[in-house]
Amino acid sequence: MSEHYVPENLPSTIQHYIDGQFVDSLDGETFDVLDPVTNKPYAQGAAGKKADVDQAVQAATRAFTEGPWPRMKPRERATVLNRIADAVVAQEDRLAEMETFDTGLPITQARGQARRAAENFRFFADLIVAQHDNAFKVPGSQLNYVNRKPKGVAGLITPWNTPFMLESWKLAPALASGCTVVLKPAEFTPLSASLWAEIFEDAGLPQGVFNMVNGIGEEAGDALVKHPDVPLISFTGESNTGKLIFRNCAEHLKGMSMELGGKSPAVVFDDADLDAAIDSTLFGVFSLNGERCTAGSRILVQRSVYDEFLEKYAARAKNVVVGDPHDPKTQVGALVHPEHYEKVMSYVELGKEEGRLLAGGGRPEGLEEGNYVAPTVFADVKPDARIFQEEIFGPVVAITPFETEEEALELANNTRYGLAAYIWTNDLKRAHTFAQAVDSGMVWLNSHNVRDLRSPFGGVKASGLGHEGGYRSIDFYTDQQAVHITLGDVHTPKFGA
Ligand code: NAD
Repeated sequence: MSEHYVPENLPSTIQHYIDGQFVDSLDGETFDVLDPVTNKPYAQGAAGKKADVDQAVQAATRAFTEGPWPRMKPRERATVLNRIADAVVAQEDRLAEMETFDTGLPITQARGQARRAAENFRFFADLIVAQHDNAFKVPGSQLNYVNRKPKGVAGLITPWNTPFMLESWKLAPALASGCTVVLKPAEFTPLSASLWAEIFEDAGLPQGVFNMVNGIGEEAGDALVKHPDVPLISFTGESNTGKLIFRNCAEHLKGMSMELGGKSPAVVFDDADLDAAIDSTLFGVFSLNGERCTAGSRILVQRSVYDEFLEKYAARAKNVVVGDPHDPKTQVGALVHPEHYEKVMSYVELGKEEGRLLAGGGRPEGLEEGNYVAPTVFADVKPDARIFQEEIFGPVVAITPFETEEEALELANNTRYGLAAYIWTNDLKRAHTFAQAVDSGMVWLNSHNVRDLRSPFGGVKASGLGHEGGYRSIDFYTDQQAVHITLGDVHTPKFGA
């Protein structure tokens, strides 16, 4: 293995950012941040607790009630958001190398994520300038209009799989809407989030609008969820964490948006373009190291093309380049953290009992340390197998044959999840009939996950609650107050007259 690349000038401490200042935790506690290639700590992250969250929420509340941000014209806010996007693009190299170092994601894919983060800001800048709201007239008697208002301090809790991009996915619409925010980044990967503060400051975001508290989910995240002055929580993470947060939000009747786990099916019918399906279903589960919520991690293949599919798919999977995340040739890098690596490896071992191993099955040759898992393919996986039912979140795929369309639909819907589905067929009628019957928030026909930012994003069943994307995100971060105006004389029944 070539020498491991370490970006220059990495911070040795990763602090909170509260009311325009980088600060340590009030109690001075920290946690180790590891590099997934060596698994050695390279920095100490500030371990935020309730007291730190209180300070961040106070700053965000002040910025919301007294500061200019919620009161600015959409065009003025959009100008700041566009400057943020420009800064993200200008820092793409630095950002991508930091993200790759911290997460183990391949550098070429980290670059793509950085560009997408910039796009999120540009998109919501455009959207708020074009935003229009309803007005209704009842001729001669009433006029009604919607007064849209930012909800207040938004609590944003994000996972480690594509940290910077997923943070932008929440920060951009929250800020565009005029909310102020407290971000709690994932504790495995806090590095790139520390870049936001400077980007926002340089772009002219007023002090106190953006606050960030690092730390462990059960401490910093929990305090944010339970804070009475945070009226809404946008959460992306595991379904079980989502359930817990849901319960904790109920106490304060908070607004919630939940983007949770997945076990998405990719269904390949025998009339599909098989080579295109193989390209996409490989990319769909092995890109981003398989640490992808929308991964097509269950491939269902029609029996008549099953053997051909397996042969071609396994040959390609064996050829996927696994290696140092900073090497531009790398297609699968190192999994984020040793704990996650152990979890994925335990599923690889389980898969050897539950399916027929066609490729991978453990650590790739020549990569003796670091969280590397060879792209692993199991065939003949039964629907009651745990590797068919449970989210592995690594480069591991379960392939299952089917005979008929009905059977394919039954298999596709046979999990607790319902995030994405991918359907491969050239039969137009079947494509749409199947797409509409499948239990998933999103469906791609003859494609992997390529998404227009205007379209809804989210899952059904255990994959989430509520849809964001486009104006739906603005709806989440704003209230739509209805104002009713009487025209002419008010007609009131005269009680007691
Ligand atoms: P996780 O649920 O362990 O953690 C997510 C975030 O929640 C982290 O910041 C964590 O610190 C915080 N957290 C943990 N416990 C908490 C608590 N009790 N209260 C408040 N906050 C708490 O998830 P993860 O392992 O970081 O991420 C992987 C998961 O995220 C996978 O299940 C994946 O499918 C899902 N995901 C979903 C989407 C989507 O859009 N649907 C996108 C990316 C990832």
